[in-house]
Amino acid sequence: MKAVRLDRLLANLGYGSRREVEGLARAGLVRLDGQALRDASQRIPLEPDLSARMTVEGRALDPLPGLCLMLHKPLGVTCSHKEAGPLVYSLLPERWRRRDPAISTVGRLDKETSGLLLMTDDGALLHRIIAPKAKVSKRYRVSLARPLQGDEAAILASGELMLEGEDKPLLPAEMETDDPTHCTVTLHEGRYHQVRRMFATLGNHVDALHRDRVGGLALPADLPAGEFRILGPGEIAALF
Ligand code: URA
Repeated sequence: MKAVRLDRLLANLGYGSRREVEGLARAGLVRLDGQALRDASQRIPLEPDLSARMTVEGRALDPLPGLCLMLHKPLGVTCSHKEAGPLVYSLLPERWRRRDPAISTVGRLDKETSGLLLMTDDGALLHRIIAPKAKVSKRYRVSLARPLQGDEAAILASGELMLEGEDKPLLPAEMETDDPTHCTVTLHEGRYHQVRRMFATLGNHVDALHRDRVGGLALPADLPAGEFRILGPGEIAALF
């Protein structure tokens, strides 16, 4: 079982500088199973139930590193520091933005795309999910400006569609028509603005885009836009 110094654990979870968390411990505000841990230099085994047993200032300890969560991304928030507008990170508890390792998004959704966005502080997991060879699928609900022509599903399935400015055709994708201006598309790769560019190439325009599934993990109907949920090991396994 890995063990870390208490001051390092709390500082890395964003509770303050090492000096500040030393002060919290000395004041009896860090407790394990109800007992004050006054020596911030002591090593704490990182047991999976630590967050349930430790309190800081009377509140349960934040989740330990190795966190993966799903956010129901609302429209109008961005995944990129380079874009204007509120960031998806602003939807997480304030302290979580100071964690080390930091939480980052697993791939990106456009500012004007809503739906299931994964976030993690586990770099190895992030790479496993986005690695091209993992081919983790992503499903999108698409609203179109113009009625479908009827040949789109076959074109997307062909693996021959070329996006403007690219030299490799898209991998085959599945498309189901819901009504003349709505469809569901499942991709097995993730290129920049892929769904919008696919339909632009097909002479249409995406009015609204929502991701409702990544791998075997669906966005739960009871998770409102703007809210998130920490994933358990079974849900993480369902991604692959
Ligand atoms: N394709 C897009 O065009 N935008 C997204 O946000 C995701 C996939």
